[in-house]
Amino acid sequence: MNWLTNFVLPKIRAVVAKKDVPDNLWHKCPGCGQMLFHRELEANLHVCGKCGHHLRIAPDKRLGLLFDDGKYTIIELPKVIADPLKFRDRKRYIDRLKEAQNVKGAPPNRDAAVVAHGTVGGVATVICAFDFFFMGGSMGIAVGEAILTAARLAVLQEAALVLIPSSGGARMQEGILSLMQMPRSTLAVEMVKETHRPYIVILTDPTTGGVSASFAMLGDVTLAEPGAVIGFAGARVIEETIREKLPEGFQRSEYLLEHGMVDMVVHRRDLKAVLEHLLDLLSRRGQKTPLALAKPRPLPEQHP
Ligand SMILES: [Zn+2]
Repeated sequence: MNWLTNFVLPKIRAVVAKKDVPDNLWHKCPGCGQMLFHRELEANLHVCGKCGHHLRIAPDKRLGLLFDDGKYTIIELPKVIADPLKFRDRKRYIDRLKEAQNVKGAPPNRDAAVVAHGTVGGVATVICAFDFFFMGGSMGIAVGEAILTAARLAVLQEAALVLIPSSGGARMQEGILSLMQMPRSTLAVEMVKETHRPYIVILTDPTTGGVSASFAMLGDVTLAEPGAVIGFAGARVIEETIREKLPEGFQRSEYLLEHGMVDMVVHRRDLKAVLEHLLDLLSRRGQKTPLALAKPRPLPEQHP
């Protein structure tokens, strides 16, 4: 047995390891369990071709999808205090942060929100997109700062502001300071509204907790991707508290549309066209010329 374990096994392992096959060629659809090939998924904007489930995507993909010709400029965000409470659970918060930041090609001090500016349908626009893959997109001081920076930039450039949350809520490792980002982000978007620039929110999966209780519900127009979980407290917590079974589709985009919390549920492939249309209409606010009814732009071809 020694010969097998000491000699043959390491050799087999070495042969297998040499292939260096990336392990993310196939993704399992969280909606229907179908295995999806990465190229097909990419072409389909990370929407399952079988059941239409909208998978979570990183901010760079999101921004590339919405800005004209996929061109935009990322804004450098102000440095913030990293671990104000010296928080520690099973791990030190500062170590968790470093771990999340330690991604190939990522800018230093990155956090759960990215701010970029460019044009959408020719309208100057600032977009702040959340990164769910960075500590669950949780909102701490850095994210608050990102929203504030985006709002200030929108005011300065007389641009529209688009926020795209994908977040589990406040970052608990920053305690009360993370909760303070709720009024802070609310004031930030108010600043944009006072200048009569459009403020649009695109709710993506998931938008919950402190994020759903602040800037995410304050858009002039609130769009949502299909099937996204949107709510404050989790469904199980609510069920246990009220001791009642919750209705089918509770806290999903379509349910919120039916109950007036969301204005439109938009498929990812149509997001840019719808956003362009809205920005075009809203950007004329305050102008003396009467509102001409804008022709709807043709929607992009549907992927199989
Ligand atoms: Zn699916």
